Amino acid sequence: MSASLALAAVLLSAAPLGAETPVPHPVRIVLDPGHGGAQEGALGPDGLFEKTLALDLARSLKAELERTGAEVLLTREQDVLLPLADRVGFANHAHPDLFVSLHANSMPTRKLRARVEGIQTFFLSASASGEDALRTASQENAGAGGAGGAPAQRDTLAFILADLQRGEAHADSARLAYALHRRLLASTGAMDLGVQQAPFYVLMGVEAPAVLVEVGFISHPGEGRRLGEASYRSRLVAALSEGIQAFLAEVVARDRAPAAASASR
Ligand SMILES: [Zn+2]
Repeated sequence: MSASLALAAVLLSAAPLGAETPVPHPVRIVLDPGHGGAQEGALGPDGLFEKTLALDLARSLKAELERTGAEVLLTREQDVLLPLADRVGFANHAHPDLFVSLHANSMPTRKLRARVEGIQTFFLSASASGEDALRTASQENAGAGGAGGAPAQRDTLAFILADLQRGEAHADSARLAYALHRRLLASTGAMDLGVQQAPFYVLMGVEAPAVLVEVGFISHPGEGRRLGEASYRSRLVAALSEGIQAFLAEVVARDRAPAAASASR
């Protein structure tokens, strides 16, 4: 275990200003394997489904992170159907330090499937970064139920979007997105499709830094095949694990700074 791993193994609780010693607690992480059960997600070569890939990555990442002392919970442990609202509810009940939803992307036409590949990392925004970000969000939001979700979900959505438009900062989600994305590219050599923002239902309402990673285009003949290989998957998992630890170490350092300053007065 490196020094940064040990540092990441504990986070400071929200101790009031001027408290003598902040209380450490184990890091808690919620991983969300996309889709499941009848919602198979995108389809790759040799019948590889996005739901299967996402669950496999989440299980491996859980094992990897648990070795650093973190407590890791999966929104689904098996190949089961799980509504998006339940994933959000599960995450908030767990009060995690961060939330990562795992997915693989796909293109609708043969021509685009042959051409488009690469990794994208998303954090929540009221407006999409572009056409492609919006397309991915609508694809992943399909599980919310109906075109725009149930009435209650639409109300929540409207409220959260309004909140975002009021300029609430999502700096930590953005920080987490960049921490993961950089390492994913370095570890895999995949095409860089950028850190993007879009209105993903599964990221809305999660009360923790939250990102959605599209680990690649499962529909691309080359990348789709790589996503089926164990060696490629372990590179993805290592990068995600390192990114999460780097993000947590950064948060610990930042949250310790004000306490140290007030103690020295
Ligand atoms: Zn998906």
